[in-house]
Amino acid sequence: MSAVDDLPPLREVIRRHDLRAKKSLGQNFLLDLNLTARIARAAGPLDDAYVVEIGPGPGGLTRALLAAGARRVVAIERDPRCLAALAEIVAHYPDRLTVIEGDALEIDASTYVTAAPARIVANLPYNVATPLLVAWVGAAPWPPWYDAMVLMFQREVAERIVATPGSKSYGRLSVLAGWRTEARILFDVPAAAFVPRPKVTSSVVRLEPRPTPLPCDRRALERVTQAAFGQRRKMLRQSLKTLGMDPAALLATAGLDPTARAEDVPVEGFVMLARALAEAT
Ligand code: SAM
Repeated sequence: MSAVDDLPPLREVIRRHDLRAKKSLGQNFLLDLNLTARIARAAGPLDDAYVVEIGPGPGGLTRALLAAGARRVVAIERDPRCLAALAEIVAHYPDRLTVIEGDALEIDASTYVTAAPARIVANLPYNVATPLLVAWVGAAPWPPWYDAMVLMFQREVAERIVATPGSKSYGRLSVLAGWRTEARILFDVPAAAFVPRPKVTSSVVRLEPRPTPLPCDRRALERVTQAAFGQRRKMLRQSLKTLGMDPAALLATAGLDPTARAEDVPVEGFVMLARALAEAT
């Protein structure tokens, strides 16, 4: 693909700003313009959209989002070394890109979004991808401030997000994401597409908020899934003991079979369990 804008090629930007990738920051840069454009398309149409991007790095995906017409991109980056490179993109797209220096785990991105529709799009740093997703699906109030998330994860994490009961990938993340969103894997991205090359394949996932998820307390759901999947092969009457109360009573209130195992319980079952826990505490 030819250039998406008049800015210098990403390799040159990386060289000029000496952005040698740091493993501790989960830095695997995507330099293939076909792929960054494909991710931006998957998040589209973007014409009226506010986009929150986590970890813009040297700005490849950021540029694709802006070239695809995003009304405004708010990009949160932890690595100060990237700021000078990102400032060049700000200058190229006046009033359309805001760069926030900081840790996305500690920043409430919704406060930077002043109009709808809003979307979260990111090639996530693998070391904080799961806590970020758990925070976003736990947003309050619900429906949330975003209308879709298009996120790149390691393939194995993507499989856990979309997994259904009975599969080996089904776990806490499947329940938390499945409770409030509809998630699907859109496409895989080979390790060779990144610089430096990671050990594993990645996948782009699209998650759309369910307008009316089954009502339950998010923290209670997090607690029951943590207890149940902490010992996923044990029966619930055993694994739920870590909650510090009588599992038999909780399971009876939730209408669940005490001999069932976490990996076979659908999202609705965990919601019933979370309600039972919330009632009991
Ligand atoms: N978006 C770029 C791309 O696609 O080439 C870079 C993606 S790289 C996988 C992840 C980016 O997230 C890096 O730029 C890294 O510095 C940044 N990052 C890591 N931890 C972060 C955090 N807690 N908050 C914000 N950004 C973070």
